[in-house]
Amino acid sequence: MSMVELRWPDRTVEVPTLWLRDNCPCAECRVEATTEHRLVISSVPIDLEPVTVGAGSSIEVDWGDHLSVYTQAWWHESRRQATRSHPEPRGWAPGFEPRRFDHDAIRGGDRGVELDFLDTFGRDGAVIVENTPSTPGYCVEFIRRWAPPFEVPFDLVHDVYVDPAGYNVAHTAEALPPHNDMGSKRHPPSGQILHMLVNDASGGDSVLVDGFGIAALLDDADRALLARKEIGHRQFADAAETWGRSPLIRTDAAGRVVHLRYSNQLLQAIDPTDPDAGAWYEAYHRLSGLITDEANQAQFRLNGGDLLMVNNHRVLHARRAFQPASGARHLQDIYFDTDDVLNEAWRLAQD
Ligand SMILES: [Zn+2]
Repeated sequence: MSMVELRWPDRTVEVPTLWLRDNCPCAECRVEATTEHRLVISSVPIDLEPVTVGAGSSIEVDWGDHLSVYTQAWWHESRRQATRSHPEPRGWAPGFEPRRFDHDAIRGGDRGVELDFLDTFGRDGAVIVENTPSTPGYCVEFIRRWAPPFEVPFDLVHDVYVDPAGYNVAHTAEALPPHNDMGSKRHPPSGQILHMLVNDASGGDSVLVDGFGIAALLDDADRALLARKEIGHRQFADAAETWGRSPLIRTDAAGRVVHLRYSNQLLQAIDPTDPDAGAWYEAYHRLSGLITDEANQAQFRLNGGDLLMVNNHRVLHARRAFQPASGARHLQDIYFDTDDVLNEAWRLAQD
């Protein structure tokens, strides 16, 4: 593999030749305003070699049919983009509760408070905003500051209150086991807001489970089987159908869990003649045991005006049973893409 030495005034670095050619910043190779590539890498030979390579704070490279100029500012920006990442998730300490932020404080123009809020969401996967307007539909306006809502084939804003005609079990006063929403989509929205408009009912505490923490407690064989086997999930209404077959665990290229999918409600029958069915069910049983173990749950009460924002690929939410006759309880849900929110935080941090 061919490499080129870049001799800057303060250091010398070796980079792959094709990388250097592909990252030429000139107006012929890039759309300068947007940094988009114009050069297609296969248009140069795979064994490309420079004719001459300069040195100094601005390095000229003669490719024979093209002249590139690489500055130190280009080097630093290339490195910055290449090493960019979202905030690292951090595990929940025992007794964890989502951090609480004041609504007007995070939206009042204080960039430090807003960044702290968004960074906490990125790292913990769950935050609470207090003193929000108890206006139905406010969650749409709230999320639009950072991200467009993520629409699914049901209502844009999903109302949760006692409704015997509702299309799923959230419309009862029963306890709901921990789950994340839209497991019936192969690519569920990665963010969710649960906005408590009114909560005058007794009971109905909120419960959260850190899915990444749970995945780390599984043994390797269970984690691998749950990541390999695709299982159907379904949620439907008179006018909408969502169904998809997906693994319960998804990992990134480094093997880190980036998505735990768990929806007891929506899980469909797996083929019992599948040779993996028995082993999968045992792994699923152990996963379920960890999720329902109260030692692995954060429990707290959402009052009227509290807005809970969670990473829906990481955090499972649940509700204890409540007494519907004891007072009104009305919650509204909306989805969004977590990447959009974290990228707004990145933009905010640049100014
Ligand atoms: Zn160029």
